[in-house]
Amino acid sequence: MAPLEILIVGCSIAGPSLASFLLLAPQPASQKPRITVLERSSGFRTQGQNVDIRSVGAQMIRKLGIEKEVHASSTGEKGVQWVTSDNRPWASIEAGDDDKGHTPTSDIEIMRGRLSRILYEKSKALSDRVQQQGGAGIEYIFGDHLDELDQDGAKVHVHFAKSGSRRAFDLVVGADGVQSLTRRMAWGVEGERERVRPLGVYGAFFSIPRRPETDTEWRRCYHTAGRRVLMLRPDMPSNRTTAFLYTINDKDPRLAQVGIDGRSSMGEQKALIKEYFEDAGWESQRIVREMMATDDFYYVSMEQVKMDRWSKGRVVLLGDAGYCATPMSGLGTTLALFGAYNLAGSLARYGDDVAAALDEYETRMRPFVTKAQDVKLGLFRFMNPESAWGVWLVDRFIRFMTWTRIINLLFLFKKPPKETEVVEDYGLETVKE
Ligand SMILES: Cc1cc2nc3c(=O)[nH]c(=O)nc-3n(C[C@H](O)[C@H](O)[C@H](O)COP(=O)(O)OP(=O)(O)OC[C@H]3O[C@@H](n4cnc5c(N)ncnc54)[C@H](O)[C@@H]3O)c2cc1C
Repeated sequence: MAPLEILIVGCSIAGPSLASFLLLAPQPASQKPRITVLERSSGFRTQGQNVDIRSVGAQMIRKLGIEKEVHASSTGEKGVQWVTSDNRPWASIEAGDDDKGHTPTSDIEIMRGRLSRILYEKSKALSDRVQQQGGAGIEYIFGDHLDELDQDGAKVHVHFAKSGSRRAFDLVVGADGVQSLTRRMAWGVEGERERVRPLGVYGAFFSIPRRPETDTEWRRCYHTAGRRVLMLRPDMPSNRTTAFLYTINDKDPRLAQVGIDGRSSMGEQKALIKEYFEDAGWESQRIVREMMATDDFYYVSMEQVKMDRWSKGRVVLLGDAGYCATPMSGLGTTLALFGAYNLAGSLARYGDDVAAALDEYETRMRPFVTKAQDVKLGLFRFMNPESAWGVWLVDRFIRFMTWTRIINLLFLFKKPPKETEVVEDYGLETVKE
């Protein structure tokens, strides 16, 4: 049996994780898949702020042999404090991600770019090892993308837009994020409105210089009228402070418009965020001033991707491309890691029976994805009211909930139930650190 030829589109979290897990399959090196990883960006993308690794995600990084490295690179956030406009903490919840449930700060908080780099380096190291043993390993292509994709049952035929080359693969994996071009090419653009569902939440992630007098190891969270939230979070390894500003808003079409890929510049996005947050109070003036100068700005329109099936013939979606749950879920990175493991494991189990492998991937992932995407938008809107008196009322409510510890019960419900967290044993090698 010839090794499978697999193209992975996207090299962020899901893409390099899948490449690594594929190389950990229990086959001789010469039988392991021949992998190509294609990334549209010309260089390695370092942008992005804090992401969480939760529940089964912790097992995935252990399997990849990167647990210590990830822990050593974590942001060091102790928990969340809600603060008043003059920066007095009035409620707090410590980090925790165990049987007590999922609190806002998980046990593993890391910068997206740092995690992505660790995963990429691990995939390269595994590729080198497989090549030394006579296998093909991984070919990385940066700065290109597909502009044609067709399948005939036996192969997927693709055309690379920049290099102009045409190639055929046994399987194409779209790990190219929420705006996945792979998804649009394989499923068609017509159904995108059904598949990609905006939640009406818009915001921006970026980092600013740390101000030691106020920027502690706690995440500070300030919410104000107009359903606006400002957060400052520590990143101890870089000695910077990360910011996340968002608003819940279904009235202003500009918020969605500036998020549409390619139609607007970072300048327009920053100008709109400035307009919404400059007068928000607390440290908003400092945050907005620094935001205008930063170049690691990442605008986000929170959208969930919902699909009845994640594969079509020999094209399959992984991570945000197939089942984005949004940063509100706190599970996007975990979904990408767990999805990569289940897809690689299923392919290892069924060999060249790709259809059977994709069925198994679907079965393993569906319950966890369904739970992760259940983000309780109504509760989220309630916690971030429109009016000033609404904010006053919710503040009292949160204070009561944290003081009586009733809030911990809510976090218990947020944790995916045990039956969705089953880690199937496919016989993949666990990498020693
Ligand atoms: C630059 C960046 C910053 C982010 N910042 C945050 C953050 O601060 N907080 C947060 O919670 N989440 C953030 N995210 C999202 C987070 O990484 C994902 O929700 C999650 O980790 C799942 O990852 P993923 O690999 O499935 O998708 P993504 O992380 O979205 O990765 C998709 C990858 O595919 C590439 N790509 C896109 N289109 C193509 C194409 N046509 N051809 C080839 N490659 C393509 C992208 O450049 C990217 O590298 C960020 C994502 C990116 C890309």
